[in-house]
Amino acid sequence: MATDLAKIASERGIKYFLISYTDLFGSQRAKLVPAAAIAGMQKNGAGFAGFATWLDLSPADPDMFAKPDPESLVQLPWKPEVGWLASDIWMDGKPVAQAPRVVLKRVVDEAAKLGLAMKCGVECEFFLINQDGTAIADPADTAAKPCYDQAALLRRYDVITEICDAMLSLGWEAYQNDHEDANGQFEMNWSYDHAMITADRHVFFKFMVKSIAEKHGLRATFMPKPFLGLTGSGCHSHVSVWKGEQNAFEDDNGELGVSQLGYHFIGGIIEHADALCALLNPTVNSYKRINAPRTLSGATWAPNTVTYTGNNRTHMVRIPEPGRFELRLADGATNPYLLQAGILAAGLDGIAKQTNPGPRLDINMYTEGHLVHDAKRLPLNLLDALRAFESSSTLNTALGEGFVSAYAKLKHAEWNEYAAHLTQWERQNTLDC
Ligand SMILES: [Mg+2]
Repeated sequence: MATDLAKIASERGIKYFLISYTDLFGSQRAKLVPAAAIAGMQKNGAGFAGFATWLDLSPADPDMFAKPDPESLVQLPWKPEVGWLASDIWMDGKPVAQAPRVVLKRVVDEAAKLGLAMKCGVECEFFLINQDGTAIADPADTAAKPCYDQAALLRRYDVITEICDAMLSLGWEAYQNDHEDANGQFEMNWSYDHAMITADRHVFFKFMVKSIAEKHGLRATFMPKPFLGLTGSGCHSHVSVWKGEQNAFEDDNGELGVSQLGYHFIGGIIEHADALCALLNPTVNSYKRINAPRTLSGATWAPNTVTYTGNNRTHMVRIPEPGRFELRLADGATNPYLLQAGILAAGLDGIAKQTNPGPRLDINMYTEGHLVHDAKRLPLNLLDALRAFESSSTLNTALGEGFVSAYAKLKHAEWNEYAAHLTQWERQNTLDC
């Protein structure tokens, strides 16, 4: 029998449920539902006016319903009387094609038909900043090479350990926390899992980090490049594909311990990298992280070309050890569901077409990249990424045309709004033309 949320509420002392969904821009929307009403909501979903959030729906559309997935339940560690639930969006008795969690389910189901399941771990970097967002919160955090700065990490002990304790209590197998490569930047790691579990946790992690930071008088941001000159916030993704209990990327006889299937998957990522940027680097600001000039610390840690390598962090794809690869492309703004859906869709296409990823490049791309003349470059801005995304028949088929057109429409509107700004730079450089 399915999990009975009303029963769980009385057993665990949950007074309210947040029935939550993530829209196309990654914003989390919710209704706060008293436990007394959860049985009906579990069956029928919580009603929303779809047009009011970023889903490309119309005010004339009927009510949409967020149907909670009981398996996703998380009792808020900082407010245990509230239970958070990830939901799928339904309208007119059907799942809404452009709802991000529905999109990921669609691709996960496609993989399952082939007997495959993707597992993924994400490294969500974030900054702790002041309330008005103008500067990092710790004025003493000024080292030129701040990565792993012990003192700066310990000055944030209270907030970092509250988040880490929460992850431990939730059974996420949290295993390390550090100060990252930019002043004010941190990363916290928990164990990898199936794509949908990781996506739900990734969504919740962002909510939790922001909420707990706020409790401590701080503000957390996952903005890809909040401060020019400092390393941006990535969302490096560690990917493997499994057949049952067997890691299908692992092969003792394969190059670097990766199977032919693994290389085909990487081939799909390489082939569709420019289109994937629309999902993995979804904001105007994202393109100030990838393609960035060298930062204060000496490296951007972000790719600018579509290349892969062994255990070397200067490429888009790194194979750090047998059986998995790290995709270093995504940033903190990526929608957790679309991140997983995009990677899996591109990889499955690589498997289907047996795409050859080309030769591995064992060079330092930051210093020797200019010597490589035939490597594809990443899009330089959101508009180029959107155009590649829209024209990708592979992603249209795998993610659904309803999703691709809705997403591209809203993102084009965002780009157009940005492009309509007259900047100080333009005036300075064009007044005397
Ligand atoms: Mg990192």
